[in-house]
This record gives sequence, structure tokens and C-alpha cells, in this order.
Amino acid sequence: MPTQKTQAIVIRSHPLGEVHKIIRFYTVEFGKVSAVAHGSRRVKSRFGGSLELLNYGNLVFFEYPNKDLHRIDDFDLIDAFDPIKADFDRTTYGCYLAELVDATELAGQLADQSVFHLLQYAFETLTQTEDIPLLARAFELQFLGLAGYAPQLSRCVACAEVFHGATVHFSPSHGGLLCTNCDGNDATARPISRGSCELMKQLQKFDFSYLHRFRASDLNHRELKFVLSNFISYHTERTLKSREFIDNL
Ligand SMILES: [Zn+2]
Repeated sequence: MPTQKTQAIVIRSHPLGEVHKIIRFYTVEFGKVSAVAHGSRRVKSRFGGSLELLNYGNLVFFEYPNKDLHRIDDFDLIDAFDPIKADFDRTTYGCYLAELVDATELAGQLADQSVFHLLQYAFETLTQTEDIPLLARAFELQFLGLAGYAPQLSRCVACAEVFHGATVHFSPSHGGLLCTNCDGNDATARPISRGSCELMKQLQKFDFSYLHRFRASDLNHRELKFVLSNFISYHTERTLKSREFIDNL
């Protein structure tokens, strides 16, 4: 029964009985890990506030073999991302990114380190970015890529033709864009401007430290939000509570 150490970010937390909590982490080495923080709801808990949602730190946990639920022995806080917690919108979006990671089945263990660092960079950027929704769209695109669901944005997913017209259609079930000849293949496909397609292609591969260089119009924001929201619903097969909350802000 080994004791494990790894860097981790808190992506979910809920009460267990009167005094405990179950914490879900995203870790560098093990991907998602669920573990019990014994006594963490007591006023004088040894964990203090270290296990708050979105916190990043060094986790020590006792791994029960063949079990899904382990035991937290220690969590040494590295960054609580205070500027996120001090701002209502930033907190809401941070919770959404965490819930998206929690709700999505990942294709393989190889993605673990990349997903962890993506989450870490996204939270660091979320502490100071001016265009919070654009950060969320960039995260969605890069996370979907790491999870094995990258949308095809360069050619038509049905006939592989390179696009010519001003508008193409985005199809969640086909996993990308359809040209004008093929958009009848999916009645649920929705039109999207070429400008928004180009922006999505750039956001798929950019470095988060350059986010401030991107400018998105109101149309870009509306289109990206709509198509990515539908695409994520298609793949997660569940409604994200924090996403509904953001849509009603
Ligand atoms: Zn086509």
C-alpha cells in the first residue's frame, strides 16, 4: 500500500458525513485522483483552507490498491490563485474549467501531464487576463485536443475539401467543419464565419502567455461560444452546472 506524492490541482470538493470531505484532484502523475480529507470540515482542521477548489499544491496521498477513493495525508499549498478568488467572474470561469476537466473522459494516460500543465497555465492567465471568455474558448479547444476530440478545422470532415466560401458549417457529431456541398449531411450543423474558424485554429495551438495579443469581435465570441458549447455537450453527454451558470450571467 504505497504513499504517493505528486503535484495536484483541486477540481472538485464535496462533503462526506459531518466532518470529512471528498476531494477530486487533477495530478501530474496520476491524472484524476479522488481522496478523503479526514476531519477537513472541522474548524481546527490541519488542512485549514488549503483544499479549496482550484488550489494548486503538493499532494501526499495513501493509495488503496484497486480502490477509486484514497486518503489525503498532506497537501502543501503552492498557489491559491488569490486574484481569481477575489473576482466573481474569474472564480465562475475557473470553476467551469475545473468541471470540464472533471466531466470529460480522457483518451489515455499520456495526456495527464499536458492536461495538468494546461490547467495550471490557464489558472495563471485567468488571474490577470482582460478577455476571460476568450481564455475559456482557448482552454476548451486545447483541452479537447489533449482529450482526443480535437475538432477538424482545416478541411471539410466529410469530403476533405479546402474551404472557399465566406461561411462554413460546424457539426458536433462529425467532429468539425462541413463545406457547402456537405452541410446537408447533418441537420444540426450550424453556420460559422471563416474569421471565427481562423481564430479557433490559432487558439488550438497558441501559448497562453500570448493571449493578450488576440482580439476577438462580438461575432467571434458568439460563434465560438455556441459551437464549442454544442461540441462539448456532445462529447461529455452531460450538462455542466457551471456552464449553465455562466450562460445566465
Ligand atoms: Zn465537404
